[in-house]
Amino acid sequence: MSPSPLFYQAGPALPEVSHAQGVYLWDDSGKQYLDGCSGAIACNLGHGRSDIRDAMLAQFDRVAFTYRTQFESAPAVALAETLVSLTHGQLEKVFFVSSGSEAVESALKLARQYFVARDEPQRRRFVSLRPSYHGSTLGALGVTGYEPLEAPFADIVHGSLKVPGPDFYRHGDVDDACHVVSVLEETRTIIEAAGPETIIAFVLEPVGGASTGARLLDRQYLEGIRALCDEFGCLLILDEVLTGIGRTGAWFAYQHYGVTPDLLATAKGLGAGYYPVGAMLARADIVDTVMASGGFQHGHTYAGNPLACATGLAVIEAMQRERMLDNVAARGHELKKGLLSLKARFPWVGDVRGLGLLWGVELVADAMTKTPFPAEQNRFARITALAKEEGLLIYPRRTLNGVAGDHFLVTPPLTIDAADTAELLARLERAMCRFDAELNRRPAH
Ligand code: PMP
Repeated sequence: MSPSPLFYQAGPALPEVSHAQGVYLWDDSGKQYLDGCSGAIACNLGHGRSDIRDAMLAQFDRVAFTYRTQFESAPAVALAETLVSLTHGQLEKVFFVSSGSEAVESALKLARQYFVARDEPQRRRFVSLRPSYHGSTLGALGVTGYEPLEAPFADIVHGSLKVPGPDFYRHGDVDDACHVVSVLEETRTIIEAAGPETIIAFVLEPVGGASTGARLLDRQYLEGIRALCDEFGCLLILDEVLTGIGRTGAWFAYQHYGVTPDLLATAKGLGAGYYPVGAMLARADIVDTVMASGGFQHGHTYAGNPLACATGLAVIEAMQRERMLDNVAARGHELKKGLLSLKARFPWVGDVRGLGLLWGVELVADAMTKTPFPAEQNRFARITALAKEEGLLIYPRRTLNGVAGDHFLVTPPLTIDAADTAELLARLERAMCRFDAELNRRPAH
């Protein structure tokens, strides 16, 4: 067989997918995999849903594509209204895109244009966390705090001011509240040194995803950041590309914390793997200011096309009909319990953290000192490979910058039932037993 022309990643050849149904996928050799990470935390309703297909086909038969400046379409208006209602009207305006990176880019550009329109052109920098991940296009990369991704482009990307976020696993002896106070103080100091009048917005993931292994922020921290934004006259952009549309048990993760952003980016779960669709939501007065100044200088060809929006609408309607947020809470509880009991069993599980059906497991060489495994051992890749052999897909990452180590995410479809949650944990346990045996160089049993 000639080598594949695709070049997504280095590493071993991938199995070829054959078909999928519910939370399971099969490759062309007949091997079955439980989708424990919803692909890339995207296939939130599982695979092969006929209700989504029917809605997509009905729209396809009517009209699949129109350009957003030529026609309005009923699904686009309905999806926009639905998204606004999910924020309880706190964010009243919607701009559709086709991916998470585009949603973040849109938020960054709208925020900048807002200040240009207000005659504050000196606001030209964003503030974001290190570590963080906000996307792979150059603007979104600029606010991303993840060195391996940043390094090749550092000279050509206008990088944001990076500040540390709270780390409730590694902050040492102080209690959480004191830790948050000191992180906020450090943040203030960095911004005051850089010039608060130059800041456009803070950009944050309310629960870190791939970059931090589901590291949580908390209410006190988010309230502190909101207060800093208000004091410095800049905006708060929340990146809910991964956490939005129910992943954490609320429609948007910020709703757990009672802190409202000025702009919000969402994607992944909105199309739920059935069609690429994302959205940027914003406060009406921000949009009005930009529109009055001549319009938003931004847009993508496929943005907001009727087929994309009909898909997103069908996804949200299915979630509402099936009361899926209740399932996220129930299954999330079971998953948390299972992961914590695995943590109690394996000393190299340093931390288990998360919310809803977004869980991170951090691996460490020494749980007492929280010392990461040496980076060159690639432990995150090994445990992911073992899980795959056991028929379980998990989402691996290594966080660098000396602040954390190897981790993986467990983020099954929001539709997963109790039996499949137990099956997920059983497969994970088998993979972890083998990983443990390899660490201790003894046969697994
Ligand atoms: N922001 C966050 C928080 C994400 O997790 C991701 C994707 N992993 C993105 C932005 C980028 O989304 P996309 O890959 O759809 O461009």
